[in-house]
Amino acid sequence: MNFCGKCAAPLSRRTPPGDDRPRDVCDTCGAIFYENPKIVAGCIPVKAGEILLCRRAIEPRSGLWTIPAGFMENGETTQEGAAREALEEACATVNIGPLFCYLNIPHINQVYVIFLGRLDGGFTAGDETSEAAMFAEDRIPWTEIAFPAVEVALELYLKDRRRGAFGTHTVDINWRAGEKRPPDILSVRGV
Ligand SMILES: [Zn+2]
Repeated sequence: MNFCGKCAAPLSRRTPPGDDRPRDVCDTCGAIFYENPKIVAGCIPVKAGEILLCRRAIEPRSGLWTIPAGFMENGETTQEGAAREALEEACATVNIGPLFCYLNIPHINQVYVIFLGRLDGGFTAGDETSEAAMFAEDRIPWTEIAFPAVEVALELYLKDRRRGAFGTHTVDINWRAGEKRPPDILSVRGV
């Protein structure tokens, strides 16, 4: 930010008294603008054993596949956000189930909160999606998955399904899309 959202004066970047990191501070009115991580709410919509994925029609990672997920809006719960994203991205009505995983991504200041989901009825590509489709386990387009968090969520889901029990998982994602991920990132978490 360059200008104060309250009085429109120029902002300076400094550590306020009693704080331990730099913030955008207004020297005119004293306002401090805190930046905090964003929550991405999503779900893994499943019907007859197949998973609904969306091919992104927008940047970042346009053309690649994702589960329905997106930034929470003010005034909604994470479950409502997950259901809304499924409706927006795939015109899909998803019955949002239990929390499945949350994924910390500190280098981009995001936290993914992913729920299990049951797809009710049909689906089609929404505005931000070029194509929506159901994938059986052996057809997941692993080399065309948009984000590391989505890859991890799908792997965890399939692992849990194979063992016949769904847990709640936490994974810290410290690598970027296209980078080699740390070995055994899932097994060290006891999955
Ligand atoms: Zn100000």
